Order: sequence, then structure tokens, then C-alpha cells
Amino acid sequence: MTGSESNGGAADLILRGGRVYTADAVGRWADAVAVRGGRIAAVGFDADVRDLEGPATRVVDVRGGLVLPGFQDAHIHPAYAGQGMAQASLHDVFTADEYVRIIRDWAVANPGAPWVVGDGWFMDAFEGGNPPKELLDEAVPDRPAFSASRDGHSAWVNSRALEMAGIRRDTPDPEDGVIIRRPDGEPHGTLHEGANRLVEDLIPEPTEDEWVEAILRAQAYLHSLGITAWQDAIVRDDTAPAYRRLAEDGRLTARVVGALWWERERGEEQIKELIERRGDYSRGRFRATSVKLMQDGIVENFTAGMTDSYLDADGHPTGNNGKSFVEPVALKRYVAQLDAEGFQCHFHAIGDRAVHEALDAIEAAREANGWKDLRHHIAHIQLIRPDDVPRFRTVGAVANAQPLWACNEGQMEHLTIPFIGPERAAWQYPFRSLERAGAVIAMGSDWSVSTPNPLLEMEVAVRRVAPDTRDHPAFYPEEALSLKSAIGGFTIGSAYVNHLDDETGTVRPGKLADLCVLDRDIFAPGAGYAGDARVVLTLVDGEPVHADEDAVSW
Ligand SMILES: [Zn+2]
Repeated sequence: MTGSESNGGAADLILRGGRVYTADAVGRWADAVAVRGGRIAAVGFDADVRDLEGPATRVVDVRGGLVLPGFQDAHIHPAYAGQGMAQASLHDVFTADEYVRIIRDWAVANPGAPWVVGDGWFMDAFEGGNPPKELLDEAVPDRPAFSASRDGHSAWVNSRALEMAGIRRDTPDPEDGVIIRRPDGEPHGTLHEGANRLVEDLIPEPTEDEWVEAILRAQAYLHSLGITAWQDAIVRDDTAPAYRRLAEDGRLTARVVGALWWERERGEEQIKELIERRGDYSRGRFRATSVKLMQDGIVENFTAGMTDSYLDADGHPTGNNGKSFVEPVALKRYVAQLDAEGFQCHFHAIGDRAVHEALDAIEAAREANGWKDLRHHIAHIQLIRPDDVPRFRTVGAVANAQPLWACNEGQMEHLTIPFIGPERAAWQYPFRSLERAGAVIAMGSDWSVSTPNPLLEMEVAVRRVAPDTRDHPAFYPEEALSLKSAIGGFTIGSAYVNHLDDETGTVRPGKLADLCVLDRDIFAPGAGYAGDARVVLTLVDGEPVHADEDAVSW
């Protein structure tokens, strides 16, 4: 594309022929956007951009589509998910037969791979939730095979893998896991929690070149979904060098903040190392300026930190209140020190006690250091005590929501609500209450746990019904957000978290031309479900990083 100098002040690009939703504070609408030198030169009606059209201007007809700011995902794992995309992915199928077919096909297509690795199976597909080794032996007789369940908490392994790991009838369960066995003690082929590592630790780690490929694969997919920036919710010394390399050689087209992993078995002595890593890894579009603190686990296996005990199947308290992975008094100290060093803290908090502890820690940092513009955020926020909802604003914690989870589906109905009871069930994903209380809301997918398609996630934020069961009753519909708010979460809200809001996140003259175009105006009456819309064009700095040539005349 020609730059502005060689184009006599005219626009390099004009998008017209549809609607433009700017996602700015008033929710301004327009008809056309002009781009010059990688930035938005004008937003307005046809007449406002006509003056900028020169002989070299590329004019793109978006054919009734909707121009939006590029989407930004505030909590996602693209490096690991991209690695998973190259393996035997079971995410799109739901039966044991299909799992076996996909794994066998992958093994045949990759004869040189020493291991056959995959992920994404549902427990529901197997009797008792536990897949047997014989089925996997059928698919992979000649090599070890390992396949993680969709939630990552269980593993399905074949006989060769069990043999290599030395797992036999007399092998004891590790302290933090279970080896599923048959009545005679024979390992069945399913491992849970810490037992996974007995096999997983034998699988060779990807090389830096492989991480580079994984990130590029993920980036191409995310661009095809309109995503132009994200926060990688765990970067360590495995994936961070790959990001750095891509930022240095220009292949990182997305803007990425990396959240450096806080090792919870260690203390403040690691802060020095985090400062070094931040300096070592941050380059260009990649900045390792956040720290990820995982404060608890998940509700489904009773490791989310709760103020009151989980219930048993009969509704009686079990005495188990879940986990606080970091001792809460120490957490306050660590967060105050990280804050003093200029790090943003990115918390994983699912249970109401974990959310409370994260809020307390952010508050402690304010008390110790005053207000700093670091934009600490709490991700997942499944259960929030009603009296903690206003604290998101008062302590300045961004609510980092994963809206796809706020619906009635199997895990919610069978594995969550019975074990927390009706009062706490109603505390889940209170997005509208957070908004009403003045919280800043950012959104993310947690891909590969859930789809990274922001339009599907927005649909659930708005409807509180899963896209694959659209006729089901809504999950606490009073907590639904407007479509404007849902778009805000995936644009300016997440841009705020990533300190990109001055440059991106709304369609405004002067900002970087990071934009996406949908095939339809999802606000229009009769437009159907947001999740059915498709992204036909994605621009970063005004350059296409995804274009569906059939749908848009690029
Ligand atoms: Zn995550």
C-alpha cells in the first residue's frame, strides 16, 4: 500500500458500503472510515471521507457489513492453543469413535512423531467418564499416545505410554492425582490431575522453532476472528523467547501483552527475576509487563476458593472450602511489591474467597503505593459476593470476564450448582451488576479452554444462553449485558487492560487502524444471533491480516 507522502495527503484506504460502530463513549455511528499511514484519518459519512479519496486510494466496499475496532482478548493462551492445533485436536467432535478416528489419522499422517499427542475429549463420551487404553491402542499401536481432556484436568494414555511411565498394578497414586484402575488393579488408561504428569513429563518439550510456529498458527486463526491484540495469560521461559523473536523479525502482527507466571511455591525473591524477564523479553509489539497470579482452582473439582464450604450431593457442607494457592496475607505483600515495580497483576480467581483475596491484595497495593495506572485485573470472576461487586470500582480492579461460561450447560447444571447451592449459584458471572457499579469490564476467551470467537462470546454475554443450545433458558438473565457493552468488553475494555486504549479500541481519527469488518450489522433488527456473524476483513495498522476475498472486495 502506498504511504501518505506518495499519495498527496489522500487516504490509502477507505472502507464504505456498510455501517461503522465506533465503540466510543457515546456509541457513535458512521458510514465510512478513511485510513492514512496506518492510522484512522477520518470517520464519518460518505461526504466526510470523499475529500480524502485520491487516485491511489483503495476503496473497499464492505457490502452492508459492520466495521468495528479490532477485537482484543484479555485472557487467552495462544501459544499453547496453537501448539494444540498442530496435534490431534478433538475439540470439534464428541464421540469415542470420532476421537479414535482423528487420533489414528494424525498418527498415520505423522509417522516420524515419537509421540502422538492430542487434547479436547469430553468425559461424557466414555462410560464412567474414563476412556480405556485399548481404544487408544487401536488408534496408536506403535508409539506412546497422550490426550488431555477438554478441561486439561485428565489424560487418556495408551499401553505404550503407561509402560514408558512405569505405571503398573502396584504403582501408587501420586499425592495430587489418581490412576484409574480396574477391579484387579490394572491401570485403565485414564489419569486425573497430578497423575497426568507421570506421562506428560516424558513428552519432549516443543523447541523455540516449534513455539514460533505455534504462535503464528494461533495468530492467523485469531486474526481470522477479528482479533488484533491480546493478553497471553501465561508466558514463561518456554514461549516468551518465541514471542520476542517474532516481535523482532516483524512477524508478530498482533499487539501482545504477556503475563509472566508467578511461581506460587516461591515468594518475593522471584520479583527480581520477573523484572529481568520483563526487560529481556519485551520488544516492539510484545511486552511482558504483567504478572499472572493464580489464586485458586476451579469449582468442578472443588479447588476454587470459597468463603463457605462446598456441599455434598445431599446438600450438606463438606468442610472443604477449596484452595488459596497463595496465602492471602503474603499475596497482599507480593502484589504491593509487584505494583511498586510497575507490574500489572493479572489474577486467576474463580471462587468468591479468591476474588475477595485478589481485591484485598489490590487494595493493599493502593494503600502501600498510592494509585498507579497499572490496571490490575481479575480474570474468570465466577463467584463474586454481592458486597464485593462495588469494590471492583473502588479498588480499581478491572473485571476480566469470560462471558462464554455464563450459561446453563452440563458443567454448570451437574458439576457446579448442586455443590454450591442456590444462593451462591446466583452470584455467578454478575456482569450487569459490575457494570452498574461502575467497574471497567474487559473480556477474554481463555482459549483453548473455550472458543476464541468473540462473536460467540458476545452472544452469551447478551443472551446468557449457550450458542449450541439457543432454545435453553437463560442463566440469570438479569446479569446480561447490552450488545454495546459486550463489544466494549472485547474492544476498548481489553485495550484498557493492555494499555492500548490511547491507540486502539475505538474507531477514532488519529488512532491506529486496527479494525475488523463483519459480514452483517449485528445491531440490525432481524440480524440473527451475533455468533452467526463472520469476520470478513481484519486490519492491523491499516494492513490486511485476514481477508475473505469472496465476501469483501479487497
Ligand atoms: Zn487461562
